[in-house]
Amino acid sequence: MPSVEIVEVSPRDGLQSEPARLTTAEKVELIGLAVAAGAHRIEAASFVNPKRVPQMADAEDVMRLLPRPAGVSYVGLALNERGAERAVAAACDEVNFVVVASETFSQRNQGAGVAETLDRWFRVAAVAKAAGRRTSVTIAAAFGCPFEGEVGLDRVASIVERLAEGDTPPDEIALADTIGVAVPPQIRAAFDAARRIAPAAKLRGHFHNTRNTGLANAFAAQEAGAQALDASLGGIGGCPFAPAATGNIPTEDLVYLLERSGIRTGFDLQRGIEAAQWLSDKLGKRVPGMLEKAGPFPAAA
Ligand code: ZN
Repeated sequence: MPSVEIVEVSPRDGLQSEPARLTTAEKVELIGLAVAAGAHRIEAASFVNPKRVPQMADAEDVMRLLPRPAGVSYVGLALNERGAERAVAAACDEVNFVVVASETFSQRNQGAGVAETLDRWFRVAAVAKAAGRRTSVTIAAAFGCPFEGEVGLDRVASIVERLAEGDTPPDEIALADTIGVAVPPQIRAAFDAARRIAPAAKLRGHFHNTRNTGLANAFAAQEAGAQALDASLGGIGGCPFAPAATGNIPTEDLVYLLERSGIRTGFDLQRGIEAAQWLSDKLGKRVPGMLEKAGPFPAAA
């Protein structure tokens, strides 16, 4: 049976853009619920400047307190060498880095242009590799930019090329629709191109559901060879640079879509729904995910 790996990103990408703050203990509880639902790769924390992202200031504490069952891999986000050192010291199994595909968004988000960001990546990769950690690079705004509009496939392809030709190519490359504008034909074209340019890298998709195309894009990505998909329990999250951007695609909705299509995820749908309900309680609002409201089908016994 075919399978796709779901990377649970609610503790980082999801919570980072939510107005309600969870305590460290609640974040650890969320990670425990994700593990219980079947997640085995979880983006747990971000090692960026806590002054810029106060929601993630407790990254080290979260990493120290989270459950460590065998087979569960924790991803830490790092945008520079210092962040990579912190992620390694906090025992992250994987270090994820972000390159933004458009210059203006890159300047606003990373405080550096694309070329300088790629130089930072090579230093981050050196730190992670020296510590024996897996690495991944997310190419953000790969399908559209809130400042520049359309992002051409050539721009994404040239970044994939730079990543693949370096001495420390990432183990995985993610193409991200950060502001939720893509449609499936774009996804197929971009994943086909990435696979041709970087055949050794694992490919991952990261989709926001701003225009309700997130799940269609995720399905197209796995058809086009993505081995992993990011998703967030409840579909929580947003994007600080795209005010109307909604969250990541909901994990439990993605599990329903894939499992009913005969694609294994390793997730327990009912437990995913319960975790989404837990998030609704903690965030004080109904999460965007649909399975959280509609329930599974056929109805659970
Ligand atoms: Zn995102």
